[in-house]
Amino acid sequence: MHLTNFDLDNYLKELETILNMDSGSSYPEGVAKVADFFIKKYKELGCYTDKVNLSPRIGPCVRVVTKHTDRFDVLLVGHMDTVFPEGTTLKRPFRIKDRIAYGPGVVDMKAGLLSAYYVIKEWMSQKNREGSICLLMNSDEEIGSVYSTPWIKEHAAKSKVAFVLEPARSDGSFVIERKGTAKFEVIFRGVSAHAGVDPEKGKSAIVEMARWILELDELNDYEKGLTLNTGTVTGGTVVNMVANHAVMKLDTRFKNPEQIEKVESVMNRMIENPMVKGVTASVKRISYREPMNPNERTCALAAKLERLGKKSGISVKWRPTGGVSDGNGISSLGIPVIDGFGPVGGNTHNEGEYLEIDSVYPRIRLLYDIITTV
Ligand SMILES: [Zn+2]
Repeated sequence: MHLTNFDLDNYLKELETILNMDSGSSYPEGVAKVADFFIKKYKELGCYTDKVNLSPRIGPCVRVVTKHTDRFDVLLVGHMDTVFPEGTTLKRPFRIKDRIAYGPGVVDMKAGLLSAYYVIKEWMSQKNREGSICLLMNSDEEIGSVYSTPWIKEHAAKSKVAFVLEPARSDGSFVIERKGTAKFEVIFRGVSAHAGVDPEKGKSAIVEMARWILELDELNDYEKGLTLNTGTVTGGTVVNMVANHAVMKLDTRFKNPEQIEKVESVMNRMIENPMVKGVTASVKRISYREPMNPNERTCALAAKLERLGKKSGISVKWRPTGGVSDGNGISSLGIPVIDGFGPVGGNTHNEGEYLEIDSVYPRIRLLYDIITTV
């Protein structure tokens, strides 16, 4: 169906406005500006809005509902925070060149937020609308949604289906499959000693850590979708001293939770049997997100989207990814969720981030079409 309430020029003007509001996850004042921008607009449409403060460390989150109810037919999810600190948009403001828009957070995911707005605007303009839509805009997605995940899951549990407005893959693919992730910090404590005078008295935390790094690296299994990356290491004090401490941080991605249990059991074995006797290791899981694996209902929803896409001449493709989103938590409840409904773009989290302007309208339309059929 053609949308009567969409205007690309307005969309781009509004996108410029919200993009130029810096809203890094650790800049709550900036996120609050984006929140207020949308609250005002949704109120004008006749929606009900709530500003929710989940932690003083992050900006406010926003809930928008199209009618007062505790059950939602459709849940839409997007995040207002970006990875860019305060001051970034002064240096690199919104700009357009050759039908491509650039700027920090342009596709991840300020454009997605605005797309959700136009879908709801169209919805609210329909006189005989039935059903209800709930939109959640969180402010901590880029730091792992540590505070907002319970809030999102609570709403997902009351919803029939969910759509996440993260950017499409660069080829336009949607996402129904994301790996889970667990991140660990391992702290090693050894015994220091002078490297020249009495090295034999030392127990090197760094040597023990090196063994961990290599053993964990062996567990990488690309075919089965388990990957491990020791991303940072620190340790030691000076070069002529046996190191009595070292710390490594490990990022893991997995398709099934059992894969992580196996990684943890390998780590437990290494804790109990250190190669350097006298060094102790302690493991802390610093974050965890369930994998997003499509269930039967997700596949049915995906098939519906393919049919709608065919009708309107938009090719609907799927691509799994190792990157996580708020879709992971939603899908862990068994709620069908399709992610990547934002417009097409790429180079997210870096200076070259871009948005393909011509992909904006077709995807808004497709989202609106699927919402009206569910
Ligand atoms: Zn994002």
